Amino acid sequence: MIQPTERFYEADAYRTAASSVITAVLPQAGGGGRVALAGTVFYPEGGGQPADRGTLTLPDGARLSVLDVHEKEGVVWHTVDALPAAAVPGAPVEEAIDWAWRFDKMQQHTGEHILSGTLHRLFGAENVGFHIGAGAVRMDASVPLSPAQLRQAETEANRFVWQDLPVQVSYPSREALAYMTYRSSKEIAGQVRIVTIPGADACACCGTHTATTGQVGLIKIAAAERYKGGMRLAVLCGARALAEVQAMQARQGEIVAELSAKPAETANAVRRVHAELAALKYAQYGLCTQLFDALAATVAPGQDAVFTVPGLDPDGLHRLAVRLTEATEGLCAALTPSGTGCGYCLARRGGDVRPLTRALNAACGGRGGGKPGICQGSCAAAPEEAARFLRSHTVE
Ligand SMILES: [Zn+2]
Repeated sequence: MIQPTERFYEADAYRTAASSVITAVLPQAGGGGRVALAGTVFYPEGGGQPADRGTLTLPDGARLSVLDVHEKEGVVWHTVDALPAAAVPGAPVEEAIDWAWRFDKMQQHTGEHILSGTLHRLFGAENVGFHIGAGAVRMDASVPLSPAQLRQAETEANRFVWQDLPVQVSYPSREALAYMTYRSSKEIAGQVRIVTIPGADACACCGTHTATTGQVGLIKIAAAERYKGGMRLAVLCGARALAEVQAMQARQGEIVAELSAKPAETANAVRRVHAELAALKYAQYGLCTQLFDALAATVAPGQDAVFTVPGLDPDGLHRLAVRLTEATEGLCAALTPSGTGCGYCLARRGGDVRPLTRALNAACGGRGGGKPGICQGSCAAAPEEAARFLRSHTVE
């Protein structure tokens, strides 16, 4: 029986270092292993919060990297990258956590409490899932929420941040708990730890939190989608929210430069560009129709018709080939330069162009196919080269 680990982070989430003693060691095949300590500042993964990272230093100066931390039956196990001979039960260690990593989790976790409590109070939403990932914090709410409701909750949650309220931890008796209202994801055996943010939230939680709401900085709902009858939210707090705003500003800077528009006018500028593009497409369609008619007029019935027109998309190639079949029963080919090769559409009224298409693909490194009367694709040869090949292979 290994002695349970004293959890220093429960009493003081700001404690970054501690001296303790190894109580058990579990070597792993291939090096490294797991170490249990009498007391720890390392938070083990749980309640949606990832495990801490950091180091354990032995008396001889050997420093072990803590890669992961898990709790099992009251014992906190630290997964380390190496297990020197000096790492034995009874050996003293100096613990140090990666504080930047931890404080980020505290900001996200406390922000989640404030937002969950606010969504619950305003709209009766239960928090049915929570995970602090590498990107955004994933939060699942039990009821559908409109964009307006999410905006209202986000604003309200940030008001609690501005008030810089204390984040209180308490261990009420069973009797006192019976009269308390608090959020809880499951029935908890033994001592219940209640985290209270006055007016905003009360929740049974074993995680680490900031001392006051002000340290959360900013609570931003970055994305929301319908999920299992409720909502899945992507939430960013503190430094993560600031980094996202900075990234958004950089993206906006690029868009503003591309559109030559003021930041507040980008949506109108995009609408204008779309309208211009639609008008150009309309004009181009008409010009192509006239061009295709003119090309078809130069073809005598029964003659082969092979034409190269730059700038055609697959639809344009198809239209030209079909238009040519109205003028002749010979081979009709529409070609257009594309990259280092060309796009093609082959057609023959009442015929089968599939053998010719296969021959073109084989000879010119192409790919494509279709129905007997019309085939479409692209090949590695330039249009002139493809045209030469087609003119010399016009057997049925
Ligand atoms: Zn918590």
